[in-house]
Amino acid sequence: MTEWITANEAALRLGFFLGILLLLGIAEALLPRRQRLLTRLQRWTSNLGIVVINTVLLRLLFPAAAVGMALFAQSAGWGIFNTFEVPFWIAVLVSVLVLDFMIWLQHVMVHAVPALWRLHRVHHADLDFDVTTGLRFHPLEIILSMGIKFAVIAVLGPPVLAVILFEILLNATSMFNHSNLRLPLGLDRVLRLFVVTPDMHRVHHSVADDETNSNFGFNLPWWDRLFGTYKAQPREGHEGMTIGIDTFRDPRQCDGLKGMLLMPFVGKVTDYAINRRQWEKKP
Ligand SMILES: [Zn+2]
Ligand SMILES: [Zn+2]
Repeated sequence: MTEWITANEAALRLGFFLGILLLLGIAEALLPRRQRLLTRLQRWTSNLGIVVINTVLLRLLFPAAAVGMALFAQSAGWGIFNTFEVPFWIAVLVSVLVLDFMIWLQHVMVHAVPALWRLHRVHHADLDFDVTTGLRFHPLEIILSMGIKFAVIAVLGPPVLAVILFEILLNATSMFNHSNLRLPLGLDRVLRLFVVTPDMHRVHHSVADDETNSNFGFNLPWWDRLFGTYKAQPREGHEGMTIGIDTFRDPRQCDGLKGMLLMPFVGKVTDYAINRRQWEKKP
């Protein structure tokens, strides 16, 4: 089975991506959590446009992607799981956990380091929060992510299956936890014990920087609880809160493709960093 999955990796990833995007797109249209500020047409063309750019760029720069790196590590005998005998399913499980933790750490890092925040703020500048927000990342941040993933794979030596599972899982949960979906509160409470829910991640997209600097998880919710960065709900409620970045409010810049691509390079490198957790609403 692993061979079949590895051989059809690209098709599987694309299939899950399109299927889940469609399902969540329909679900959030039927059960919206918040009123939209902008039209779908305006945001989706830009958010999906950047997905197309990133996909082409990744194909050109790293044609074999993370799976290729895992295959290479395996044949070269690199990494912990290619050095020590570990039962296959334990290696898969631990690899998915470690990869998820590294993504969490990386997410904390891009908020903590002012220059990296310039890249990551493109994700946060979306004035609305829906399934396509989970896909919009600046191409430079995508390249940074891939580099970090390569390094983790080289050290860990995860089974190829774990890398494929993780890529599909992360893509799916990222779309899910950004969706503008109204889940019953009881269901949300139970779900967020195991997976990051839309209500949990929406807190992270607040303009208030103490709220932005919480809930860094994309997939598993446990790291935030374990490391003290968990915030259950936004102060002003999910309908009352403002989404985005305080200083970026122009729809053409925040949700236009050109504005998004140029956003890392505008303005001075600010003192925005993770230790700034004192939010004062500007008059
Ligand atoms: Zn973030
Ligand atoms: Zn997000």
